[in-house]
Amino acid sequence: MPYRADSDDLFALPGMSRVAPKAGFPQHELFAEVAYEIVHDELMLDGVSRMNLATFCSTWVDDQARRLMAESLDKNIVDKDEYPQTAELERRCVRMIADLWRCPDPATTHGTSTTGSSEAAMLGGLAAKFRWRQRGGTGTPNFVCGPVQVCWEKFARYFDVEIRRIPLRGDRLTMHPDDVAAYCDERTIMVVPTFGQTFTGLFEDVAGISRALDQLQEVSGLDIPIHVDAASGGFLAPFTAPDLVWDFRLPRVKSINASGHKTGLAPLGVGWAIWREAADLPAELIFDVDYLGGSVGTFNLNFSRPGGQAIAQYYEFIRLGRTGYARVQSAIYRAARHLAAGLRDLGVFEMIHDGDPHRGITAVAWRSSGDPGFNLYDLSDRLRSRGWLIAAYPLPADREHETIMRAVIRHGFTVDMADLLVADFDRCLKQLARHPFSTSLTRQEAGGFTHSATAVVPDEQIEPA
Ligand SMILES: *Cc1c(COP(=O)(O)O)cnc(C)c1O
Repeated sequence: MPYRADSDDLFALPGMSRVAPKAGFPQHELFAEVAYEIVHDELMLDGVSRMNLATFCSTWVDDQARRLMAESLDKNIVDKDEYPQTAELERRCVRMIADLWRCPDPATTHGTSTTGSSEAAMLGGLAAKFRWRQRGGTGTPNFVCGPVQVCWEKFARYFDVEIRRIPLRGDRLTMHPDDVAAYCDERTIMVVPTFGQTFTGLFEDVAGISRALDQLQEVSGLDIPIHVDAASGGFLAPFTAPDLVWDFRLPRVKSINASGHKTGLAPLGVGWAIWREAADLPAELIFDVDYLGGSVGTFNLNFSRPGGQAIAQYYEFIRLGRTGYARVQSAIYRAARHLAAGLRDLGVFEMIHDGDPHRGITAVAWRSSGDPGFNLYDLSDRLRSRGWLIAAYPLPADREHETIMRAVIRHGFTVDMADLLVADFDRCLKQLARHPFSTSLTRQEAGGFTHSATAVVPDEQIEPA
């Protein structure tokens, strides 16, 4: 049947009266418009990304960044010779970030874009492992950390490195500098402080850990480097807490990773790994590819990768500069503090992180105070019925009986949205007080960290404002 785009109704076409192919490879074609509409409509069920306060990643970019992403859809960042200007923009980003993080010589050091902090963390870890081998290290290497993001557990398992996680001490939620030395030995390739923990958003004390390692070196001779996982703190503190020393100002910090697609404000799919000096990245990890008649070194776990993310990152850097980033990030912190104040006023929560730029990232974390008669998984589930995704989860292994909640506040979240959210909290809390869940959801039932739970009570049962 001939399709006439000008007169046929899309939803009356034959392709629309059949269910979409789901299992075996489809036999027949569909009109592009029909296939597009089917996919587009199915994705409506994904929810609204800007109401997903469980993610750290960019959910808002401006039209210019979107345009640059669309224009570079066909550019492979690995083809340095074919797309030399994309390669050049990536290199400028490396120098800019090295400068931002106070590298001794940003023009000559090594760094690279990656698919995110996970790949960047692996590269930082691998470089530390190779440096340790070069120094004569033998046996099974280890690294020391506090409560880390899952990428470090992956690094340990994929690359045969023992992970030594320091248990949380007392009611502290970050690694205590005084505890670090006891976990280090001659096989320790690095200590990994998290600058912006995923659990709470809190900064770990990189300078304190560095001092503790200085003391360890004085008494034992062990010279243990630091890799900072600054996935989300790396593009915040330089603008909103510039006096906080966590970066290459500390000589022991040899490498840092951050996610451009988190607080770097770039679209999803870009991270950065930067080394203090060129010599901190062992030559064995570098592979040469063709570039403008010569060659250029690359060090990535991936080969082909889209170029748009690094391009959009460069756009964000020159668009905003230091003053622009300071303005944007300060506004996000303001929204976070506004949310924290609103939640505190509800009278049933105790704040763990209230969005103080010197203590942590643009996030708010809390637990319930006393015995409020509901659990946070139920509350998380109830909030979902209004479209808000807010994670409830247990603290790390040694404190897993404690449950906390966290909202990551990002570019595009306003104080007005914070008020709407607090009003929904209030409504959900009242609803939970009147109709307690018959059986409380466990973490598994609630979908765990990512919260894929379906609402137990339909929307209508929640009182209008
Ligand atoms: C998000 C995050 C990661 C992983 O980063 P991706 O960019 O998602 O790969 C690693 N460490 C910390 C502290 C994070 O917050």
